[in-house]
Amino acid sequence: MNTSENLPVVVIAGRPNVGKSTLFNRLVGRRQALVSDMPGVTRDRKEGEAMLRGRRVRLIDTAGLEEAAPDTLFGRMRASSESAVAQADLVLFCIDARAGITPADAHFAAWLRRQDRPVLLLANKAEGQAGTDAALEAYSLGLGTPLALSAEHGEGIADLMGEIADRLPDAPRAQAPHSEDRPEGPLRLAIVGRPNAGKSTLLNRLLGEERMITGPEPGLTRDAISVVLDDPGGPIQIVDTAGMRKRARVEQSLERMSVSASIEALKMAEVVVLTLDATLGVHEQDLQIARLIEREGRACVLALNKWDAVEDRAKTRQAIADRIETSLAQMRGIPVVTFSAMTGAGVKHLLPAVRRAHEVWNARVTTGELNRWFEGALERHQPPLVDGRRLKLRYMTQAKSRPPTFIIFGTRAEMLPDSYKRYLVNGLRETFHLPGTPIRIQLRGTK
Ligand code: GDP
Ligand code: GDP
Repeated sequence: MNTSENLPVVVIAGRPNVGKSTLFNRLVGRRQALVSDMPGVTRDRKEGEAMLRGRRVRLIDTAGLEEAAPDTLFGRMRASSESAVAQADLVLFCIDARAGITPADAHFAAWLRRQDRPVLLLANKAEGQAGTDAALEAYSLGLGTPLALSAEHGEGIADLMGEIADRLPDAPRAQAPHSEDRPEGPLRLAIVGRPNAGKSTLLNRLLGEERMITGPEPGLTRDAISVVLDDPGGPIQIVDTAGMRKRARVEQSLERMSVSASIEALKMAEVVVLTLDATLGVHEQDLQIARLIEREGRACVLALNKWDAVEDRAKTRQAIADRIETSLAQMRGIPVVTFSAMTGAGVKHLLPAVRRAHEVWNARVTTGELNRWFEGALERHQPPLVDGRRLKLRYMTQAKSRPPTFIIFGTRAEMLPDSYKRYLVNGLRETFHLPGTPIRIQLRGTK
């Protein structure tokens, strides 16, 4: 009678020395695992039970398993984690925020993305303000929003427990196949951008012109507020992180904090208004924020503010559009709205654009339409040869919306090169009118 057989399985994975065992100890609450300063000290696989927000889980620490297999570091990580990951209900993938992302982390992340298991990305050793850069960089692993924490100092552990509990198979917020099609509730909007782009001015303008259903209230995270506007098209909830930006002014570099504030805000949003000071053109930091929006799978509207102060409007618009098209191919067709938050001119076009972006993001294409198009697309351009053999792509279906996500099935489909995926994404975007939204393609090989 071993009831632990039925417990959800949470696996801690990552390269040696990132703090897996320390985290294991934290979560299990007893010193079951041996912690060492030397990378890769041989240890047995550790298993324990943890109680997280009232849920019992079986926790597996893969630390030390690396020694069992020869080969490269990545090969060892993979070999050690393979069986554990296969049975995982959730994988906690740890990186060392102090060390930054290493090639082994990146390789392992790429492998993990293909395993089709839920993953929570943890940036450990981030006590104090340490590791902000690595946490940002960790977005590039494509495993969602990294959670910064310190296993050793116990920072962020309570949040982590909540995040784990929310992701367990039969968590109250169930992951039903279509749970993402959430029809109820106001559209959730975030206004992000670099300092001085005019976000506060814009928010005040919107608050001044729209009828508010609820006034500023403490929002979902520390220092975030949210207001609900009674827009004619339906209620819109705006999440603002003004407080976080203010704190930034005293505590750390404005630019960097502005990006982390944006991350917080866009996590809570469905549509993100990326606000630019149009007199300054597009900055690298704007692109960085845009990429985060894409990575998080949010709909985006580009707002060119301070239009009153722009001299050659046609030229400015074109220059910005060109820069966005070339630098952000993943968001092709992103809607652009120009206005002056200060004078109010043009601001009325913003919320309708937000609503259209939201619709595109929610779009669903029927399997029939999709496959009629897919056949033609395959004929126009055959999938390339991989290792001298042609990939046989059979059919396609939309797995979910928010953002639109498609699955392609076929023999060795998982080998499809990115260039061909981009060809399909561009075709989907044009054919089914999906401008400006991130589009995801997943590949499923069939035998
Ligand atoms: P593992 O090989 O991934 O299991 O890593 P360990 O848990 O053995 O930790 C490796 C080293 O990192 C040890 O020296 C730990 O004390 C240290 N460490 C773990 N967590 C943290 C943390 O949150 N902050 C800092 N600064 N060090 C940590
Ligand atoms: P935030 O840091 O993004 O919240 O930016 P603010 O809303 O605080 O605005 C930064 C500065 O830009 C302030 O001096 C604003 O008065 C100015 N500003 C904001 N919107 C406009 C606009 O539409 N036109 C002009 N000319 N200035 C603006």
